[in-house]
Parts: sequence; structure tokens; C-alpha cells
Amino acid sequence: MLSDLQIRHRDKRALREGYSPAVRRFEIASIAAYVAVMTWLGVELAPRMLAKPFLALSALMLGFVAADFVSGFVHWLADTWGTPEWPIVGKTLIRPFREHHVDPKEITRHDFIETNGNNCFICVPAAALAALLPLQQSLWLFVAAMMFALCLAILGTNQFHKWAHMDEPPRLVRLLQRAGLILPPAHHAVHHQPPYARYHCITVGWLNEALFRLRFFQTLETLITRATGLLPREDDLGRHAAEVVAREPLPPLPRIALDLQLDAPETAAQPELKPD
Ligand SMILES: [Zn+2]
Ligand SMILES: [Zn+2]
Repeated sequence: MLSDLQIRHRDKRALREGYSPAVRRFEIASIAAYVAVMTWLGVELAPRMLAKPFLALSALMLGFVAADFVSGFVHWLADTWGTPEWPIVGKTLIRPFREHHVDPKEITRHDFIETNGNNCFICVPAAALAALLPLQQSLWLFVAAMMFALCLAILGTNQFHKWAHMDEPPRLVRLLQRAGLILPPAHHAVHHQPPYARYHCITVGWLNEALFRLRFFQTLETLITRATGLLPREDDLGRHAAEVVAREPLPPLPRIALDLQLDAPETAAQPELKPD
């Protein structure tokens, strides 16, 4: 029963103390590397994208949707597996997500470096690889432009997430949230309901319901548990609550109603035969 979870989160203060000066230096270096690599990629792409605007526009739009998926996948990984004690990723990636469930408002007190350092680090190798592609070929130009949009939206992701937790975000931000163009607060609130097991996408959230109903992350969790014996969310919720959640039935698969009414013309439009 989910009502009897008895969640045991980690200690809030210990999680905050895990944000060490070394982690902060790592974040500053990541932001500097991100700016350098994205400028390089942007300069390589700009003249070629202007010459092929439709290809560029479709690649940019696909990159934005891909960012929503990547944000969900990384968030799910960091929420579900591992501990803050793991080397490197434990302190830099897993700890902030553990802290975020214990204290969702803490993100609104983060400055630019703490908000964006991690995401910049993830983007640097992807953007560098995109800049090295043979951009004179349309296919690779499409891939590189998509990667550029993806990295830009990934940079925006933690900012959108932070705004979704603010009591009074700027006016323009509220308009974008209401239009569904960046992560809306009410939509993201679904993720913050224990046991924090769905709606992981935090760029805009367009993919959340589809991934949940298609059992995307639930299936991955089942496969990983079968292969490794690891229990999803054990470090985040405590063993008892994680076991209760793992036993929960899967959500119903979406039903596709093929209501074609193939026999409709015959049955519906029968002319009435009147006697002479
Ligand atoms: Zn989470
Ligand atoms: Zn959140």
C-alpha cells in the first residue's frame, strides 16, 4: 500500500554539506567549458543553418523535445539508483537529486553556478562531438543542429525546474509556464508526490504522461533489478518504502480505440422502402 510507505530520506543537513568547494570548482570549470564548446559549435553551424533554414528549424525543434527526454532519463537515473557516496557522480549528480526530494525549495536558493554547473558538464562532450561532424553533409548538419538545440535546452532545464518551484517567478516566466512552453509548476508537482516515481522530465514535461503510460521507466527498472538485484529508490526512500513501491502494479497500458464503424454506411443509411 502506497499510503503506508514510511519513507526514510537522508538527512537534509548532511546532504547540503555534501556541496563542497571542490564540487563548486568543478561546476565553474564545467560552465566555462560549456560556453567555449557551444560558441565553437554555434560558429560552425550558423552559416550552414542560414543556407538551409527548414532543415535547421526542424532539427532545432527535435532537439528541444530530445532535451525533455534526456532530462527525464538523467533525473530518473539519479533518483532511482546509486548513493551520494559513489565517487564523482555521487557528489556531483546524485546528491542534488536526493536533496531535492527532501527539500524542494532548496533549488530556489541556488545561484547560477550551482543551478547550471552539472548540466553544462553533461553537454560538453556531446557538443564537442557535434562540432567535429562533417557539417557539409545535410544529415550530419541536421544531427549537429539538433545537438546544439538539445544542449541549449539542457542548460535551460535546471533554470525551468527552479522557476517551477518558485512562489513568484518573473511575469514572462509565468506566461511561458501557462503556455506549456517550459515546465509548468502544477505538472511538475506530480513528480514530487511520494514515491517520486513518475514525471521525471523537467525541461517542459511534454513526454511525461506518454513515458508513464507506456511503462518506459518501470520496464527499465524491472530489467535492471532482474539483472543486478538492485532495488530501485532504495537509497532515496529507505529499503521498506522502496520494496513497497517495487511491488506496486504497473499503470494500465493506453487503450487505442479503433472505432472505425466499418459497417456504419450499411446500417445507418438504409433508405426506407415505402409501399406505393
Ligand atoms: Zn526527482
Ligand atoms: Zn522539482
